[in-house]
Amino acid sequence: MQTGFPLPPGSIIGIFGSGQLGRMLALAAARLGLKTHIFAPTGGDSPAAQVAHSYMQADYNDLNAVKAFADGCDVLTYEFENIPAETALEAARLKPLYPSASCLNVAQDRLTEKKFISEKAGVPVAPFETVENIFDLKRALRRLGGSGVLKTRRFGYDGKGQAILQNETDIENAWEALGAHPVIVEAFIPFIREVSIVCARGVDGRMTAYPLVENVHKNHILHTSTAPAPRDLGHAKTLAQSIMEALDYVGVMATEFFELEDGSLLVNEIAPRVHNSGHWTQDAGCTDQFEQHIRAVAGWPLGSTDPKHGVVMTNLIGEDVNDWQNLAREDNTFLHIYGKKEARAGRKMAHVNRVVP
Ligand code: AMP
Repeated sequence: MQTGFPLPPGSIIGIFGSGQLGRMLALAAARLGLKTHIFAPTGGDSPAAQVAHSYMQADYNDLNAVKAFADGCDVLTYEFENIPAETALEAARLKPLYPSASCLNVAQDRLTEKKFISEKAGVPVAPFETVENIFDLKRALRRLGGSGVLKTRRFGYDGKGQAILQNETDIENAWEALGAHPVIVEAFIPFIREVSIVCARGVDGRMTAYPLVENVHKNHILHTSTAPAPRDLGHAKTLAQSIMEALDYVGVMATEFFELEDGSLLVNEIAPRVHNSGHWTQDAGCTDQFEQHIRAVAGWPLGSTDPKHGVVMTNLIGEDVNDWQNLAREDNTFLHIYGKKEARAGRKMAHVNRVVP
């Protein structure tokens, strides 16, 4: 364990990123008497900065600002994975960074991630190939069974930076849209459902897991997470925790899977952070994923992950949030609004957790 750990109440946790995940991490830290310091290019009105102890507005590439920020914190973490590699390395040189810069490096790039998961952790992923040009892509697709999904290696989220390929026209269009970026192509997986699991690993290597969750997407954005998933699959925990062990991971990590007809699982992707499919934990009567992450990075004992009842989490996207008055009247429903100014289409504005008695 690092000297000074566990961090006592009053310590400062530095968080890179100022979105809703940072906001909910800051709120959870405050419950434990820990302070949060936010680093982001956005200003004091961004979701996390609104509720944190303090914030620094600077570009992620500004290494002088990163140094000043790290100097003012006891431990560092992040709420999104697109922090530049040099920033993460500089931060880690100055203060403990959890999850580590190498975990971030693996998760930032779909190719590195899939290779790590399949080759180092020995956990199955969807068959994939890297492609350099449209001829490679056509050949790869034939090997992958004729259909597939083209994905940019970096900066993809909520279905952005990807295209489904089922015929010749799809291939031409997808290559035109995405071919200028480094890409991979994956086999199209005829999954029966999408599930995920949120696990945590402490500085001492101890691990916890919440129950498996069933996820439904709408327009490529997570719509609902039902927890616990109607049919549990015990091997999800084993697979996710093998990846965490292989990464020597510290913090909360989400693993998204495709479930096949025979009950087997393929990892779609990992998120080296708290995750939308773990928001239900806030109203499940156990330690929520945000507090669990704070506990992990501060060297505290991990909390209970045993929900006292089921929860269905629904995201409120864009204008959905305007229904807040009706939602606030619903029984057994807990509303979490992120404090974003503009309800743009496709933007995650809030979520509701409906408790299943
Ligand atoms: P991702 O950004 O990789 O999480 O993909 C977004 C969504 O696209 C997933 O949640 C799936 O619904 C779908 N998808 C991604 N990859 C595949 C695949 N290889 N086969 C079938 N559907 C996929």
